[in-house]
Amino acid sequence: MREYVTLACNECKQRNYITSKETKGGKKLEIKKFCKFCRAHTKHLERKK
Ligand SMILES: [Zn+2]
Repeated sequence: MREYVTLACNECKQRNYITSKETKGGKKLEIKKFCKFCRAHTKHLERKK
């Protein structure tokens, strides 16, 4: 099973990306991505809908 999660910028809390992940494992996603609001690469954290 896969579930959809949103990735939110850790700096400005804007939700910039949607991705899917395996439901089992339980690890929170933490990805460096470009935030257009910060105009920089920032840490993006998984957010539940
Ligand atoms: Zn940001």
